[in-house]
Amino acid sequence: MFKGLSERIGHSLDRVKGRGRLTEDNIKDTLREVRMALLEADVALPVVKEFIEQVRERAVGQEVLKSLTPGQALVKVVHEELIRVMGSEREALNLRGRPPVVILLAGLQGAGKTTTTAKLARYLQETEKKKVALVSTDVRRPAAIEQLETLAGEVGSSFYRAAEGTAPKQIADQAMEYARRQHADVLIVDTAGRLHVDEDLMQEVRDIHAAVEPLETLFVVDAMTGQDAVRSAEAFGQALPLTGVVLTKADGDARGGAALSVRHVTGKPIKFMGMGEKSDALEAFHPDRVASRILD
Ligand code: GDP
Repeated sequence: MFKGLSERIGHSLDRVKGRGRLTEDNIKDTLREVRMALLEADVALPVVKEFIEQVRERAVGQEVLKSLTPGQALVKVVHEELIRVMGSEREALNLRGRPPVVILLAGLQGAGKTTTTAKLARYLQETEKKKVALVSTDVRRPAAIEQLETLAGEVGSSFYRAAEGTAPKQIADQAMEYARRQHADVLIVDTAGRLHVDEDLMQEVRDIHAAVEPLETLFVVDAMTGQDAVRSAEAFGQALPLTGVVLTKADGDARGGAALSVRHVTGKPIKFMGMGEKSDALEAFHPDRVASRILD
């Protein structure tokens, strides 16, 4: 992510070595460098603008501690601002409700919903010691339902399979009943995606949402999709009361922009990162750690 950002900052500030204070003047070029790095990483423009403004405000006038070079001092400000933009604190899943507590996953096709459903199931079972049931409401793609059933078998969750021809909302209702009968603690509902946002899809997810009243409504988004991630985040954020985001494929050669933009656009915390295709490749999202990774 943002390969070499701290190096770029360091280099362009080498010239001001020896001066005791960061000024508007001596950080100008460096801020341009940071701005470029963020744009190259596909961070949405409004986010970049606000980011640079915040860094400027905090940096100008700052005394450079004796132990730091001006470059290091500015890197520190950038690091703190990265953390702030990504949400400061790690935000855990909210599971405080009468079981079965529902987690609803929404997002575009290919974003990684089905994979994430299985990963979350495994995480909840292993780490939180929860009993988990899974269901897919993707009636247009029978293969997607089968894929989840297979994954459920692999991670050892129970799976609700509806009769063929059942409508998505009814599947969700029935799955709730099933999860109750199973004494499941958590029901994870995987929903249909489309290649593009459309009104039909949004209405379908809203209906399912109303049927199962999830405690967590997570928007699943592919970190590699840059500006498209921002657009779909906006659309899903308007259609659904999201409670958080799962950023998938963060293991790929992601330029990292989505991590910064999506939080800004949705106003919701990134709760997890997908770090691979396997069911154990899910990491809690720690803004401070990701900020350090970005600056590495
Ligand atoms: P869905 O259409 O939203 O349900 O997407 P899928 O769960 O079927 O995932 C689409 C593709 O992305 C599959 O090939 C997954 O293996 C892959 N995938 C999902 N999450 C990750 C991830 O975190 N890292 C990587 N590298 N691949 C992922």
